[in-house]
Amino acid sequence: MERYDAIVLGAGAAGMWCAAVAGQRGARVLLVDHNAEAGRKILISGGGRCNFTNIHTAPDRFLSANPHFAKSALARYTPADFVALVDAHGIAWHEKTLGQLFCDGSARQVVAMLLAECERGGVTLRLGQTLGEVAHRDGAFVVTLPGGDALAPALVIATGGPSIPKIGATGFAYDLARRFGLKVVEPRPALVPLTLGGDETLFRELSGVAAPVEARAGKAAFREAALFTHRGLSGPAILQASSYWRHGEAVGIDFLPERGDGWLIEAKARQPRATLRRTLGEALPERLAGVLADRLEAPEGPLAGCTDRALAAIEARLADWRFHPNGSEGFAKAEVTAGGIATAGLSSRSMEATRVPGLYAIGEAVDVTGWLGGYNFQWAWASGHAAGVAIAER
Ligand code: FAD
Repeated sequence: MERYDAIVLGAGAAGMWCAAVAGQRGARVLLVDHNAEAGRKILISGGGRCNFTNIHTAPDRFLSANPHFAKSALARYTPADFVALVDAHGIAWHEKTLGQLFCDGSARQVVAMLLAECERGGVTLRLGQTLGEVAHRDGAFVVTLPGGDALAPALVIATGGPSIPKIGATGFAYDLARRFGLKVVEPRPALVPLTLGGDETLFRELSGVAAPVEARAGKAAFREAALFTHRGLSGPAILQASSYWRHGEAVGIDFLPERGDGWLIEAKARQPRATLRRTLGEALPERLAGVLADRLEAPEGPLAGCTDRALAAIEARLADWRFHPNGSEGFAKAEVTAGGIATAGLSSRSMEATRVPGLYAIGEAVDVTGWLGGYNFQWAWASGHAAGVAIAER
């Protein structure tokens, strides 16, 4: 039986960083993963360039049953801290948009950096390990592994959520947490395309058309691009809204968020002979304008023939078009999993389970889910750092 100060389950973003931080502060750490390669999700992130943080990170950009939970860890390990690490490894980066920082080169550089940091911390890395039993005896955790069992007084659950199972994502974290008496907030696909059915399937003919919109779900609203797909709706605005959307609810789309009230009435004054179809075609991608005009049963004659009241009603529909998704593309396509190990049972300072000393949960496995744009990695780094420091201080 090999003995360590901590065993970290999952060599993803949070697990690697947690192991490196604890190791560099003197803890003997074992890092285990069932994949043959560490950080597979990092490798496919950000289109292969890894959007590794967001400079606008703030607690209100995260969903959780307890919106205050993430504050402490995010404040103690910031985007600037991670950028300093990236800079120290000579990885070139750029801000793409909305505070999103990407590698100029490849996401492989981020994985290589994390592995180098683990090595610097003397972390023992065991890949390709199917996890067996996890037992808790006399204050120590014993993990059964093909390469030999391991024992430690600290165990970190860093196996993420079930999004994208084809690269090895599982719900293992939830099963393990439940076995230790922790509650799990129902996991659901987030940052995921939504599907349309019924008479809304007509919108599928717009597959490939994108437009800048404001998408709203629950109390959240996002101004970014929406994209029509052969199954429904996608694009950053929809992915963002999907995290707040619940089955049975509508998603509201403002197709012309930059236009002020009364713009159609002004258009009538300016171009009384133009048709509504042409006026919409000037404001929106043509195919989209055509489908919306059909659905609005828009009058075919000149704007001059429309009453201001009719134009105001059309404007109102375009500003709050109600889609009723019949579902999402599920965990197979979800960039993250919302829900997860309930924060109520964890310390926000250390990520340790309050009722199971020595048990920690970090990263996506926990009920903290970021917006699109680098926030999820920042949570992985910050929660991994919090647990790593706490483990070394034990
Ligand atoms: P993971 O990185 O998923 O790591 C979990 C690890 O646990 C994996 O290595 C897995 O193999 C291992 N594991 C799982 N189950 C078991 C088991 N039973 N036994 C042993 N090991 C197990 N976020 C951003 O901030 N920016 C982006 O650009 C971005 N792009 C993304 C693109 C895609 C396509 C996807 C799917 C996600 C993206 N994300 C992005 C989200 C981000 O990748 C995750 O939030 C982040 O990886 C979570 O880190 P984690 O360490 O908690 O989990």
